[in-house]
Amino acid sequence: MQKNDYDLIIVGAGPAGTTAARFAAEQGVSVLVLEKDRDVGYPVRCGEAIRRRGIEEFIEPDDKWICAYIDKFSMIAPNGVKSTIEYIEKALILERRIFDYELAKLASKAGAEIITRCYVNGLLLDNGKVTGVKYVQAGEEKTATAKIVIAADGVESRVGRWAGLETHTHIKNMESCVQVTASTPGIELDTCRFYFGKDIAPEGYLWIFPKGKDISNIGLGVSATMGKTTSALTYLNRFMENNFPNSSITSIVSGGVPCVTTLKKMTAPGIMLVGDAAHQVNPLSGGGITSGMVGGKLAGTIAGKSIKQNKPDLIYSYESEWHERMGKRHETYDRIKDGFYKFSDETFNNLAEMYNKLPYEKRTIGRLFTTALINKPSLLLDVAKVFIM
Ligand SMILES: Cc1cc2nc3c(=O)[nH]c(=O)nc-3n(C[C@H](O)[C@H](O)[C@H](O)COP(=O)(O)OP(=O)(O)OC[C@H]3O[C@@H](n4cnc5c(N)ncnc54)[C@H](O)[C@@H]3O)c2cc1C
Repeated sequence: MQKNDYDLIIVGAGPAGTTAARFAAEQGVSVLVLEKDRDVGYPVRCGEAIRRRGIEEFIEPDDKWICAYIDKFSMIAPNGVKSTIEYIEKALILERRIFDYELAKLASKAGAEIITRCYVNGLLLDNGKVTGVKYVQAGEEKTATAKIVIAADGVESRVGRWAGLETHTHIKNMESCVQVTASTPGIELDTCRFYFGKDIAPEGYLWIFPKGKDISNIGLGVSATMGKTTSALTYLNRFMENNFPNSSITSIVSGGVPCVTTLKKMTAPGIMLVGDAAHQVNPLSGGGITSGMVGGKLAGTIAGKSIKQNKPDLIYSYESEWHERMGKRHETYDRIKDGFYKFSDETFNNLAEMYNKLPYEKRTIGRLFTTALINKPSLLLDVAKVFIM
């Protein structure tokens, strides 16, 4: 018999939502997660790259959801010159449909109830305070009440807006992304490739993340403003024709990524926002899996405490805790992004050329920029923009 009253209701069973559910449920509060799709973790709209250290806080790495172990990062300049950097720490390429499912299992093991095929279409409000959700399950309109609702409903989030929070993203901060999973004979299994240039991915980058032998996720993000004249898909098709003309494509996905600082307000009476719904994505890389899980952990832990201690106002501490842990860092990345993605093709070419003159052991990302400064003063202005706080 399905209940209709919980301590905490979470909308969305992505990494942010299930992580919030787990950390709240571990404190003994009753948690319901409502997911609109049939399966947790599917469909996948993601390049599936993640820093290994970032997820170790949440889950023990397991070969069943790891497709590739990455040691190297190659930057390919617009003129085709490649610079390779060895990662000090490993990155991983995930099989997200299994990874997300494993996260959901951890939440469920902690006591959270997860129900799929439930579309949340409204909030219950009492004097401006969120007191529950309205949802549709198997064609039937239902409601459930809760002391707190966490909106983890991803980039297209509507739940925050229903609660009166300002969740709008300006088009210039939205990366329009498209990705194929395709056969890529000869692509190294231990290297993530990043391509830059105005003809490849203006104000963004193109990635090749190996998913296994001879198969990769190839995708790109362009600023949505750029994508208005030539779509992200046109850029990707062009790249595929030029580089992998005989590739067989097994899937194609598209989606937006809010590459911007976190929402100023992620809480309102009775509600907290996490993950993409709160714009917790790293604005420079567009990566949002780990940061969404950090947001989920903070929100779930604080929601659990607030409920157990019967202190509704405790939820507001989530904003400062997030700011301390990730928000400040994202503000810096956002400033770097503004300079970096405006680099001209010539700047990228010069950087790659100078960088390749360094002895291999000295090639680090930090060096990439300092070399540019030391060796070519004309780059100073561009590179300085990257570091201006
Ligand atoms: C093309 C592309 C490539 C990317 N590559 C990477 C990458 O390589 N590495 C990385 O770290 N990040 C990447 N990202 C970003 C990453 O996918 C997201 O940041 C991450 O999935 C955010 O997690 P989340 O839990 O906040 O949201 P999501 O994973 O989007 O989960 C939200 C969930 O809420 C559900 N939902 C939505 N509305 C409702 C509703 N009304 N009722 C019930 N359920 C609802 C959805 O079905 C979904 O399951 C990429 C994004 C794109 C588009």
